[in-house]
Amino acid sequence: MPTTLIADRIRVNRPQPRAGPVILARMAHADPGRLPQECMTPASPDTVAPSAQTDLPALAPWEFAGLFLTYWCNARCAFCYVHSGPDRGGDMSIARAVELWRSLDRLAGSHGKRMRIHLAGGEPFRDWPRLAGIIHAARQAGLSPLEKIETNAFWATDDDLTRSRLELLDALGVEKLVISTDAYHQEFIPFDRVRRCVEIARRVLGRPRVRVRWWDAYRRPVDLRGAGLETRYDAYRRAFARHRERLAGRAAQVLPALLPRYPAEHFANQSCAESVLRSRHVHIDAYGHIFPGVCSGIVLGRAVGRTVEDVWNDVAANWAQNPLVAAVVAGGSFELMRQAQTFGYQALPDGYADKCHLCTHVRQFLFERGVWPEAIGPAECYASP
Ligand code: SF4
Repeated sequence: MPTTLIADRIRVNRPQPRAGPVILARMAHADPGRLPQECMTPASPDTVAPSAQTDLPALAPWEFAGLFLTYWCNARCAFCYVHSGPDRGGDMSIARAVELWRSLDRLAGSHGKRMRIHLAGGEPFRDWPRLAGIIHAARQAGLSPLEKIETNAFWATDDDLTRSRLELLDALGVEKLVISTDAYHQEFIPFDRVRRCVEIARRVLGRPRVRVRWWDAYRRPVDLRGAGLETRYDAYRRAFARHRERLAGRAAQVLPALLPRYPAEHFANQSCAESVLRSRHVHIDAYGHIFPGVCSGIVLGRAVGRTVEDVWNDVAANWAQNPLVAAVVAGGSFELMRQAQTFGYQALPDGYADKCHLCTHVRQFLFERGVWPEAIGPAECYASP
């Protein structure tokens, strides 16, 4: 079984002298000279975790956390890094959000850090009373300030409503509002709502607290509502050329058709240790799944019946027992594909647009077959079933 093979290659609990590149080379079936630079870099003092007693890459303390308040979204963007849409759920209650927030604060504090929380989705403005309630409750509980909220501004339908909501966010101490605008969103959201939200937010919050993602799209807006496939694809190509997105979630399904592709071997030995273990950034959904910051659908652990601190300690000590994490740390998505081939996965004849496209395609295959369910999920991160 692939799990056993990887666990055998990675001996977590066996103390050894530090010889990171050698062990990592063994993990990746690679010559140390061919290892990616990130694997050769010794862990900095603040990344030392229990597993650093071995020669494995250490898990960094989590300092940046996004709470996915829901997988619901009014839009269904082609570049979404999960599979959000109007038919998705996964709503996080006020009590659950505060519980996770408190636990994240404690985790960062125990490492001498300050947790930086952002609220995301899906679309966090789906349920305004709940969103405001979460921020209010966290503030009442004395938790860390909210660093930012991300929104596509779909709710900014008139001036009074927009101003009143932004004034409340200001009063609740929200540090920053991030407003999305690009070709993908403007397939679903009238641009006048984006403009209204940005202009009023700049007046209410002040310019430094308003970020637009992306300003070039804001200055040259497009309206792709009702546009045909060719028009949309042209706009996607231009948008992707300006702002290269990671191809995960729906983006990995839709965008590779517009991009150059490479055989899977092109992505060999591209360890993902930096993204998965060292980024210090995670996302957590309402089900308690904890994902590496940019790798939604890869489950590091679940904060259900245990705290985030418990999960972090468990991941720090035992990540090599997670077959998916072990594979991508050892050799990136190419190593994951090699493991998946033992379950019947066949490489795409047209190849892959980037390493995350390969990773997502392989995970979709494994998810549909129920392989490694503790490490791959939930359904909202995958296209089907
Ligand atoms: S290849 Fe997979 S594990 Fe690596 S960064 Fe991309 S999504 Fe994350």
